[in-house]
Amino acid sequence: MVQISNNVNFNGISPKNLMDATYKAVENFQIRAFFEAKDEILKTGKYSEKEFYEILDALIDAETERKLVLELLKGKEPLFLEEIAKIVKDFPVENVIRDVIYLKEQGYIEELIDIKTKTVIKKIKGEEKEVEEKEYFYRYQVKDLPDDFIEHFFEPVSIVFDSEVCCQCGWCSSICPVNAITATADTLEIDDKICIKCGLCYSVCPRSFSIEQAGKNINKLDKSLKFSEQINGYINTYSASTTKNDIKKVRQDGGIVTSLLEYLLKNKLVDVIVAVQHSKELWKPEPVIIEDIKDLYKTSGTKYANASTLSIIDETKKYENIAVVGVPCMMNALEKGTLFPSGLPFFTNIKYRIGLFCMESFPYEGVLNLINEKFQSDFNKVTKMDISGGKFIIYLDSGEDLNVPLNEVKSYARHNCHYCEDLTSDYADISVGSIGSPSGWSTVITRNKKGETLYKEAINAGLIESKSLEDVKPGQSLLERIAGTKRKNCKPIELKEEKERSDYHN
Ligand SMILES: Cc1cc2nc3c(=O)[nH]c(=O)nc-3n(C[C@H](O)[C@H](O)[C@H](O)COP(=O)(O)OP(=O)(O)OC[C@H]3O[C@@H](n4cnc5c(N)ncnc54)[C@H](O)[C@@H]3O)c2cc1C
Ligand code: SF4
Ligand code: SF4
Ligand code: SF4
Repeated sequence: MVQISNNVNFNGISPKNLMDATYKAVENFQIRAFFEAKDEILKTGKYSEKEFYEILDALIDAETERKLVLELLKGKEPLFLEEIAKIVKDFPVENVIRDVIYLKEQGYIEELIDIKTKTVIKKIKGEEKEVEEKEYFYRYQVKDLPDDFIEHFFEPVSIVFDSEVCCQCGWCSSICPVNAITATADTLEIDDKICIKCGLCYSVCPRSFSIEQAGKNINKLDKSLKFSEQINGYINTYSASTTKNDIKKVRQDGGIVTSLLEYLLKNKLVDVIVAVQHSKELWKPEPVIIEDIKDLYKTSGTKYANASTLSIIDETKKYENIAVVGVPCMMNALEKGTLFPSGLPFFTNIKYRIGLFCMESFPYEGVLNLINEKFQSDFNKVTKMDISGGKFIIYLDSGEDLNVPLNEVKSYARHNCHYCEDLTSDYADISVGSIGSPSGWSTVITRNKKGETLYKEAINAGLIESKSLEDVKPGQSLLERIAGTKRKNCKPIELKEEKERSDYHN
């Protein structure tokens, strides 16, 4: 989890420069829209008056910082993010990296991408072969802007949904200060009559603009992390299995997610867990808030249909500490809400993020059709679904199991998953999946100190049996290969033509 400072220190800045920057900052559409809608926001009740002013303060600070960063970069040649961070010494490096990406989105900075091809030796089907690989280099430069340039206005996220790239994570609906958004596993609706055009939903949406460059570069700054282009920053990788027989009966793979959640609840490290369980319709996941360990096992096991888990985060406000389980796009959304727009997370009660690996998910109808058409089986008789060894497998209550090659089920998967590059939940505290480990075991990636500590504590409590991923087969090499393939095949996001950006300002 990236640490951004939302209490910016302006001590080194001259009073005149600071005043100029603050003056420009409060002209920003996002700050104005949020400030002007104070009454509507407080009437909605999602944010208290204290929280309203904390968010507003953080927005103004971050925007002021950006205006100062922009001034310092004017007239400079195209630079890599790490070079920019060395030039701008007045603010923490993490903030500067975040600012450059947001300034790009606001229309001030241009991203220049150089592609270089290198030849590498790779083992393919046991034989060493020379393979050409593309490398991408990102540099940033302030644009030469006309005097009448108007900062970009961020559309509400209907633009993301209409562009058919929304991953239905539900995060925007939890964030929206006036509850204008209703997000479900398949739909997204915005009530134009109450939307205050603050663009906060756009800032935090994992599909509006990418955080890849910001996230990767900030992670690389943390020298305690190992870094892989395929699976991003991490402390350690393990293969693990639960020791609890009750969890073994309901788990998907090693039962590590349920074991970690049980440890968190039992030791009161969190008050509740946000996860998913079967809804009234079998195999249709329903996001739930779990307070009691006795309800936890209902969440175990993978449901391959997608859920809008993050749409219920705003219902957890009364709890001080929560943990969230989700697929990579959800971890990406939570990270984005921490980085943008201000470095102040909207829900400071999210203490643990448990991320799953995910190659793709299916619409609920897609899962139904898949079982009917490919397996000619009764949906109600399916006790478990799994993706393993390149096959989609179903287990029936008769004890029988059936499988089809994974490429035969691709057409049932969600089209919007093609825009997803993250297999291993790059932005979780701990990521858990099956690729790399033997059957009945999970592959675990601890991403930061918090994740590593939780994992070690669960082992010490006797809940988990753990080995290094280096000591199992197929291990990390397979995981990195598949994660690399997902990144390579990911489609670029292009949002539909945006409305005239100047509408709001006129
Ligand atoms: C849609 C999807 C696709 C996946 N694809 C892959 C893959 O390609 N390769 C791979 O290695 N692993 C994949 N996984 C992860 C894998 O299936 C297991 O969830 C993971 O290995 C953890 O196993 P476990 O035994 O520790 O989990 P358990 O202890 O059984 O706990 C499972 C947890 O997953 C959560 N969950 C279940 N369904 C969903 C859902 N639809 N959305 C959000 N959370 C959910 C539950 O809330 C529960 O907390 C996928 C998971 C999902 C949800
Ligand atoms: S829908 Fe988006 S732009 Fe509209 S009020 Fe909600 S967060 Fe702001
Ligand atoms: S935040 Fe999630 S649900 Fe909302 S528009 Fe973006 S991708 Fe879709
Ligand atoms: S493939 Fe990506 S977008 Fe699709 S459900 Fe998985 S994490 Fe979300």
